[in-house]
Amino acid sequence: MPKALVTGITGQDGAYLAQLLLAKNYEVYGLMRRSASAEIIGERLRWLGILDHVHLIDGDLIDLSSTIRIMDQVKPDEVYNLGAQSFVAASWHQPLLTGTVTGLGTVNMLEAVRIVQPTARFYQASSSEMYGKIQEPVQTERTPFYPRSPYAAAKLYAHWMTVNYRESFGMHASSGILFNHESPLRGIEFVTRKVTDGVARIKLGLAKELTLGNLDATRDWGHARDYVRAMHLMLQQEVADDYVIATGRTTSIRDLCRIAFSHAGLEWQDHVRQHESMMRPAEVEVLLGDPSKAREKLGWVPLVQLEDLIAEMVEADIARHRGRQLLALPREIPAGTSAAA
Ligand code: NDP
Ligand code: GDP
Repeated sequence: MPKALVTGITGQDGAYLAQLLLAKNYEVYGLMRRSASAEIIGERLRWLGILDHVHLIDGDLIDLSSTIRIMDQVKPDEVYNLGAQSFVAASWHQPLLTGTVTGLGTVNMLEAVRIVQPTARFYQASSSEMYGKIQEPVQTERTPFYPRSPYAAAKLYAHWMTVNYRESFGMHASSGILFNHESPLRGIEFVTRKVTDGVARIKLGLAKELTLGNLDATRDWGHARDYVRAMHLMLQQEVADDYVIATGRTTSIRDLCRIAFSHAGLEWQDHVRQHESMMRPAEVEVLLGDPSKAREKLGWVPLVQLEDLIAEMVEADIARHRGRQLLALPREIPAGTSAAA
């Protein structure tokens, strides 16, 4: 039975990846940080019905002794480093934490692999945010990076360290440059989930309005379930490499609203308000990825269309509000903070 160690296993991608690996008969271990709110830990794994099928080991990415101890305990064949402070807007409020967890935390994992289990294959969760102020209209593995947030800068450091460990130590270390991917398990603060949760509340009469920031930005959105398949495929290759994972279609926040509200029979203009406080200090206006390399080398293609993804999310949020099974209680975003969106 192959063994996989997943950091960030309690997050969106970690949960779907664990589900995929279990279906492929892996023994799945997850690094999980301790929380005082123990009752909500593992909520996504529970939602997928796999909480009791994974081994959770306490630790923290910023603690090298944790990463070495866990590597020694598990001796995994494959390591998926998904753990991060992953929300761009929060990275302006917590730039040092973001740099430490998202940037240096990756090096703690790379070091643990190098020291304890150098034959393990390593996956790094790189991000399309690294393209930031885009240097080419369609982004490929060769497009220069221009990070526009502390999150993107931290991810870029982690990305280059992964390349560095591959080239310096011959490690089987790959980076997936993943464009935005969503699901009913997406964090409530990200725009897709904020919109589908808003649609559900408005539809059920629990709210009247939804306040958003920049409606003109566009993103290349796919389904998380499709994207974790690409992570696994990368580690099955003979040679480690970097791959763009995207759909090749970009859609504005405005059109996202139209799709989500119309799925519930609502008119988005009747409910969406824009507010300054949701604007970011620096914006990534457009992201559009070219996944040709992944298609040719990995045989990977996305299977879920944006309309179907949004429909699934709206339905899940309506069901949650109806059943009061909130995956994550919507947080009030403090008004008057420039990076609240
Ligand atoms: P989530 O925010 O849903 O999950 C992040 C995970 O990291 C959680 O399990 C969280 O644990 C964990 N984590 C945070 N800080 C630490 C820490 N100090 N030590 C250990 N674990 C920690 O992210 P996603 O699942 O959406 O994304 C997975 C990865 O892919 C992230 O690295 C993200 O930056 C990257 N990515 C995501 C994209 C997307 O569109 N989803 C696009 C491109 C890249 P806890 O539950 O305790 O908070
Ligand atoms: P990101 O691409 O990782 O930053 O993913 P997000 O879902 O957080 O944001 C995607 C885009 O939506 C960005 O351009 C945001 O500026 C824009 N956006 C507009 N309104 C909001 C909002 O209320 N919340 C969030 N999170 N993003 C918003």
